[in-house]
This record gives sequence, C-alpha cells and structure tokens, in this order.
Amino acid sequence: MAEPVADIALIGLAVMGQNIILNMNDHGFVVCAYNRTVEKVDRFLANEAKGTKIVGAHSVKEMISKLKKPRRVMMLVKAGSAVDAFIDQLVPHLEAGDIIIDGGNSEYLDTIRRCKALDEKKILFVGSGVSGGEDGARYGPSLMPGGSPAAWSHIKPIFQGIAAKVGSEPCCDWVGENGAGHYVKMVHNGIEYGDMQLICETYHIMKTVLNMSNDEISEVFAEWNKGELDSFLIEITTDIMKFRDTDGTHLLDKIRDAAGQKGTGKWTAISALDQGMPVTLIGESVFARCLSSLKDERVIASKQLAGPTVSFQGDRKAFLEDLKQALYASKIISYTQGFMLMREAAKQFKWNLNYGGIALMWRGGCIIRSVFLGKIKEAFDKNHNLTNLLLDDFFKQAIQRAQDGWRRVVASAVTNGVPAPCLSTALSFYDGYRLEKLPANLIQAQRDYFGAHTYELLSNPGEFHHTNWTGH
Ligand code: NAP
Repeated sequence: MAEPVADIALIGLAVMGQNIILNMNDHGFVVCAYNRTVEKVDRFLANEAKGTKIVGAHSVKEMISKLKKPRRVMMLVKAGSAVDAFIDQLVPHLEAGDIIIDGGNSEYLDTIRRCKALDEKKILFVGSGVSGGEDGARYGPSLMPGGSPAAWSHIKPIFQGIAAKVGSEPCCDWVGENGAGHYVKMVHNGIEYGDMQLICETYHIMKTVLNMSNDEISEVFAEWNKGELDSFLIEITTDIMKFRDTDGTHLLDKIRDAAGQKGTGKWTAISALDQGMPVTLIGESVFARCLSSLKDERVIASKQLAGPTVSFQGDRKAFLEDLKQALYASKIISYTQGFMLMREAAKQFKWNLNYGGIALMWRGGCIIRSVFLGKIKEAFDKNHNLTNLLLDDFFKQAIQRAQDGWRRVVASAVTNGVPAPCLSTALSFYDGYRLEKLPANLIQAQRDYFGAHTYELLSNPGEFHHTNWTGH
C-alpha cells in the first residue's frame, strides 16, 4: 500500500494539466499525476517533472491510494464524455467528503448535472473555469471555481496559491453553487471573443480606411496599451502586427482569414438568447467568425458584389483617437452586456454571484485581463447592487467622452464599406438602452393586428387590450 503523500491528484497530462501540476509543485503542494495514456505519466516524470516532488500513478486506484484525505482529484481533460468517463472510474474509489474538480471547459449545464449526481453519493464536485492558456496555467491562471460549497475550504489554499495575483490579491475566489464557475468562465470566453473581434475591426479600419502599414498599426496598438486599453489582447496584437516570417515579410498577411472556434462564445450567445438578454456584441463576434469562415464563398462574391470606394479626407491623428474611443466605449458595452447576462442567469439558477469578485478574477491571469477590469471591480465595490455598469459614474462619463468619436468611426466604416459589426452593434445597444421610447409600440400593434396578441397602454401597464384594426 502506497503512502498517502499527495495533496492533490491531477488527471490529464496535455498542455494545461502539465503546467498546472508544475505550478502547484512550485507552491509547495505534492501532486500525483495521471493520464489515460499512462506512458505520458512516465514521460512527464522523467522530463518536465524531473527533480520535483511530483509523483505519478499508472492506474486510478494507485492514484487514489497516494492521496491524503479528503482526497482532491482535479481533471484537465477534453470536455465532454471524457469527464463523465473519469467520474465513473473515480467514484468507486472515493468516499464521502472527497472532492472531484473539473478544470476543463465544460458546459455549465453538464456541471450542474454532475454536481447533483455526485451530491447524491456525498462526493463534492467543483467545476472550475481555468483561463490564461499554457503560460497562465504555469505561472498563474485565473481560476473560477463553483460547485459544492463544502469543497471550497479544502481547495482554497491550493487554488488561491497557484492563481495569478493582482498586488497581493489572488485572481480566484469562490463563484457560487453547481455550474456557476463554468458559467462565469463561459461568459469570460464570450467576452474574449468580443474583445478580439473589436480589435480586429479597428485593425481593419486602420488598414483599409487609413491605409496604414502593419508596423504603423503595431505602433498605434503599443500606444493604446499604455492607457485605459492596457490589456493582454492589445499587447499580443502589438507583437503579432510586427512579427516577420523567415522571408522578412509580415506573417499576419499570409494567414488565411477564416476564424475557428471551439464553442464557448456560441454557448454564451445561446445562453443570452435563452435568458432574453441583449448580449449583442458577443453574438456579433460569433457571427463574424462564422462569416469569416465562408472564405471560398467570399472569394467568389468579392468579384461580383460592389461596395463604395474607400476615401478618407479627415485628420488622421484625430481619427485614430476616435478609433481608440470607439474601441473603449464598445468594450464597456460588451462587459456591461456580459454582466447583465450573469445577473439574469444568477436569478434563474439561484447563484449569489459576487460581481466585483468576478471582475477581480478576470483582472489578472486570464486572456481578457486588463486595467479596465479594475474599474469594473471598483464600480461593484462602490455599489454591490449596481444594476448596470453603464449607470456607474465612471463608465457613464467614459462613454460620454467617447461617444462623438465612436459615432464618427461607425459612420466612416459604413460609408467606406468596412464591416464593423461589433463597434456598431455596441453603439446601437447604447442608443437603445438610453432611450425611454423605442419603436416596440409598433411591434405590439402589429402582433395584435395579425395575431390578437394584445398590447398594454403606456397609461395603464399590466392591463391588456385588443383592437379590431380593420374595423370589421
Ligand atoms: P485537451 O487537448 O483538451 O485534452 C487532452 C487530454 O484529455 C489528454 O490528457 C487526453 O488523454 C485526455 N482525453 C481526451 N479524450 C479522452 C477520453 N475520451 N477519455 C479520457 N481522457 C481523454 O488538453 P488541454 O488543451 O490541456 O485542455 C484541457 C482542458 O482545459 C480542456 O477541457 C480545455 O478545453 C481546457 N482549457 C484549455 C486551455 C488551453 O489554452 N489549451 C485553456 C483553458 C481551458 P490522452 O493523453 O490519453 O489522449
């Protein structure tokens, strides 16, 4: 019988698993490594884990025998059936109070289901968002754990120990019950889609409308990264823009313009539709990827469908400032929509989400990390019951300062035929949200006309009327 030496076991020795294990080891935790293809365990121990306190196992049974109690087993395997398969293998070896953690990109509804099923067996289950990619996993990811609340005190020292830090504060806190952690991670990924698309749209406008070179665009992003837009995604874009291939030309220009996706952006958009929340910017960013992937069709259409001739006569420096403001304002809208969605989901699933805490979890370690998230945290710290970020004074004023430039950018994109779905949907959302009266009175009248769906009067909401619109 092996000595129970390990603080935690980690299943899944692909890029994320290996790096999280090494990170845990750096922080003084003894980790037992395991993988479906067991040869990878020996390879890992002999190479990356050489000279560390990391131990390995060649079976689930052996792995469990090496764990201190309550046993903590974290999985970083492909989301979907692999997670269920491992849960089935683990359960016979575990006892009440032991903890299974799924750190993969699982769908929150799966996490809710797994949490419930394991709760019946008295096994604690945690579904944790993990963000930051390979480097984050190695040196400090953003971690968003949710699930059985009783598990938190047992995993907190490890999770907060390995997480990214902003100052001394870890980018990891308890999110909420059952699927809350994976839900928040899903929204994080949706916001990531939106941030990426917004950056792409500003790149497209700089390239097409202002006719700028990649190196010039890189310099603009580098400048933007010094102020309110300071973020990981702007930083890497600066590097990508100027990166040269071995032949001395820009690699970016050779990359096929057809974006891939793994689904978390789509899930966010689907959840937004389910919740009836206008998360338009993430939705547009998913569709923008879909449109980009129709590359062959676009090549044919480009030879047949006409658009305007691009022309720019204004002040380039002033327009670049407008563009920066448009990006910033649209980003505010995207995060506003993301937090609106989480608030609505929290109502449905009865999660008591800490919105300032979520902003802090995203402030460092993850792909959407930015200075801007510090401002969101401040807004929720100032007012825990803030219903909408746009109503916070800081963001209200930021949008007010940005909006003239934002409108000029969207107008210029439209007149020059440059698609800017996220910059423009953000502006439409802003204009819709700030208007007391929208044309939905006509929708109600139309619905009542053709389907007798009834309408309410402004003077008497709650009372429903039907009119015979044709008078016969
Ligand atoms: P991955 O490529 O998603 O998955 C590979 C791992 O899953 C391997 O350990 C593999 O075992 C195991 N696996 C696959 N199918 C299996 C099955 N049917 N049964 C048992 N095990 C199976 O690895 P990753 O990129 O390191 O990501 C791990 C998880 O973290 C995923 O859920 C991913 O979505 C999430 N994530 C990834 C990133 C990232 O930047 N890569 C960031 C955040 C979150 P074998 O070696 O035996 O094939």
